[in-house]
Amino acid sequence: MQKNETVIIGAGLVGSLLSVYLCKRGYKVKIYERRPDMRKADLVAGRSINLALSDRGIKALEEVGLMDEIRKICIPMHGRFMHNADGSTAYQPYGKEGQYINSVSRAQLNCKLMDLAEEHGAQIIFNQKCESIDWNKNEILLQDTGNQSLSTVHFNLLFGSDGAYAATRLTHQLQHNRFQYNQYYIDFGYKELNIPPGKNGSFLLEKNALHIWPRGNYMMIALPNMNGSFTCTLFFPFEGNPSFEMLDTKEKVTEFFKQTFTDAVPLMPTLEEDFFDNPTSSLVTVKCYPWIRDDKFALIGDAAHAMVPFFGQGMNCGFEDCSVLNSLIDTHNGNWKNILAQYQELRKPDGDAICDLALNNFVEMRDKVANPKFLLQKKIEANFSNKYPGKWIPLYSQVTFSPQIRYSEALVNGKKQEDIMQQVMALPNIDNCWQDEAIEKMIFEKMNA
Ligand SMILES: Cc1cc2nc3c(=O)[nH]c(=O)nc-3n(C[C@H](O)[C@H](O)[C@H](O)COP(=O)(O)OP(=O)(O)OC[C@H]3O[C@@H](n4cnc5c(N)ncnc54)[C@H](O)[C@@H]3O)c2cc1C
Repeated sequence: MQKNETVIIGAGLVGSLLSVYLCKRGYKVKIYERRPDMRKADLVAGRSINLALSDRGIKALEEVGLMDEIRKICIPMHGRFMHNADGSTAYQPYGKEGQYINSVSRAQLNCKLMDLAEEHGAQIIFNQKCESIDWNKNEILLQDTGNQSLSTVHFNLLFGSDGAYAATRLTHQLQHNRFQYNQYYIDFGYKELNIPPGKNGSFLLEKNALHIWPRGNYMMIALPNMNGSFTCTLFFPFEGNPSFEMLDTKEKVTEFFKQTFTDAVPLMPTLEEDFFDNPTSSLVTVKCYPWIRDDKFALIGDAAHAMVPFFGQGMNCGFEDCSVLNSLIDTHNGNWKNILAQYQELRKPDGDAICDLALNNFVEMRDKVANPKFLLQKKIEANFSNKYPGKWIPLYSQVTFSPQIRYSEALVNGKKQEDIMQQVMALPNIDNCWQDEAIEKMIFEKMNA
């Protein structure tokens, strides 16, 4: 049996980053990862799934000095580029001048984080699947995914960063009285599709934007990749009309896309193959409690709080978990009982809040962004915020560009703002009088009420 100081299960985005934080503090870290080493397998050259990296994640990467490396594989996206059903397009900046989110390939980012983890001294052991944990003996049962052999490793300190369907969470849950577990699937799934690069690696759509085709009940989005391609994601009902279930032949898919995403279809030469070759995946929210066990175990990243991707915050939140945990090591002078207790106390409400915000944002992205009334509301908010920057930070900016505001605070602030804006939008003739001083005064009064 091996004796390890500190063990992490899962060398995904969060586990790899966490190991850097811990190695920098002198911990001897071993990471056990179920998959083979993706840097050796030809996974990166295949499908390119990309994510939006924003300020909370960037702050965490900067803290450990990794952001300069990561920036090299990022494409800034300054706003949403809407492709409306009537063929018109519109552009909405995400925030103020200079504020943007970043498109980054998940595989490239994960490979880079694993390289950096190893450079900092972490040891990653691949093809090792966590099966269960003996909490009395502090032993993890691992299965070699190649020859199926079983082994055990000892830990003093263990982190479960094994994703939304975490085995560490399950074994924690099964041996815990009154474990709270809430798992919620939405009726929509997603499928990845592709817009290849143009001639000489050119971008066939505006490069520095997140593209959205909002269609009421569903939507498609596209994020740019370094090679000039775009990864499109269709968020679509599993059943009903229209739905994945209905689009069961190549002809139906092509016909539906031609009618619905007219301007995208000519850019998608492999649409039919992609649609049937790529899986239809589900979207889950997971909330649970407790996240910790004494002074020896904590869940982190998706294992603690899986969310739907509509605020682009799952990874960013997981990176922020690492940053908060790191700051608590100083606060509690390395006393892990206190560190873990406060980590849970701080992060559980924030994890719950961003899970809720992410679910709410689906309606905004797929439907409201194409609605003139909603666009006017956003214009009034932006106008007010520009005039009084300290008084009103739009919810999107609080979540995406303001790491100093906790997710749980953003949720509360956002509800209050929405309530005020609903009253403003209900005023007669608001389309014409929105710039009047009386409107500004009303917003101020309601904010201070
Ligand atoms: C469609 C989609 C779009 C998204 N877009 C964004 C976005 O724009 N911005 C954003 O911030 N987030 C986004 N997310 C969320 C983001 O992908 C996750 O929050 C992030 O990957 C979580 O990282 P993690 O390390 O906690 O988990 P994961 O990335 O899932 O990594 C878990 C690791 O644990 C390993 N593992 C699993 N089980 C075991 C086991 N039993 N033993 C050993 N190892 C195991 C896995 O192989 C994996 O390597 C998106 C998610 C989806 C589905």
